[in-house]
Amino acid sequence: EWLDACDRRTILRAEPQSFCAGVERAIEIVERALAIHGSPVYVRRQIVHNTHVVADLERHGAVFVQELDEVPEEATAVLAAHGVAPSVRAQAAERRLNVIDATCPLVAKVHSEVHRFTNAGRTVFLIGHAEHEEVVGTRGEAPDNVVVIETIDDAHTVEVPDPTHVSYVMQTTLSVEEADEIAGVLRTRFPALQAPRRDDICYATSNRQQAIREVAAASDLVLVVGSANSSNSMRLVEVAEANGAEAHLVEDASDIHLQWLRGAHTIGVSAGASAPAALVEELIAALAALGELDVTRRGGVTETMHFSLPREVV
Ligand code: SF4
Repeated sequence: EWLDACDRRTILRAEPQSFCAGVERAIEIVERALAIHGSPVYVRRQIVHNTHVVADLERHGAVFVQELDEVPEEATAVLAAHGVAPSVRAQAAERRLNVIDATCPLVAKVHSEVHRFTNAGRTVFLIGHAEHEEVVGTRGEAPDNVVVIETIDDAHTVEVPDPTHVSYVMQTTLSVEEADEIAGVLRTRFPALQAPRRDDICYATSNRQQAIREVAAASDLVLVVGSANSSNSMRLVEVAEANGAEAHLVEDASDIHLQWLRGAHTIGVSAGASAPAALVEELIAALAALGELDVTRRGGVTETMHFSLPREVV
């Protein structure tokens, strides 16, 4: 009785959603490495933050490790999309690994900004979540001169040796609004603050947030397909909530709780940049099994971004 079987529901699919160019590239790198070298191909950390993607590649012969010391010497090892600190590259060289780097070029860009700023003697504020792999990697470029700023409070209280030589960079998958707010506080406190040349929050993150904002405003409930350790997926849930909808993160259709659907006539659906589109199709099929659906798309930005593959797998 939770659901009114005669109810007709409307599904608003936020567009764009699901894979970004960096994730597509990272997955293709592992697939090609397996085709070229055969199994096992080692991958340091989850290639992208999605349980289904990782399980699928494992079935095809990828072996996921936490650290490179688990990889036999001279074996092939892929570095995940989130990027790594230079110390990890040094470790790979020491073990004479055949390294294939799947770091997203937009993360690599932030690494080079940190380089440029710290080489010029500046302290860099890295706006992001300290524990996230991307932030660990970016900070690793210059651990003594990078200060992670996680919250508005951090921005209000942080102290640096020379306030006239400061810059900031960002994690690529933050909430655009929250990150702007934090940068605003830093700018007020440090008038000499230098910004990155272009915003670090990537096109995929901002496009998905923009679409979900529109969808959430028109929905009773928003479902975001993604894994709990996926930063951009979690931000989609928060942005949907901030725009007035009840919102939940689901790994796949099996995570749907029927009580969420009670009274939910319009359901927004999105997926994080690391979540496969097939999972969204399954989710919509599961909802269709519970009552009639009208599915429409909302949003509008068409993404054309594409990154070329590293030469090791071409
Ligand atoms: Fe690259 Fe952005 Fe995708 Fe992360 S979310 S892999 S930064 S394109």
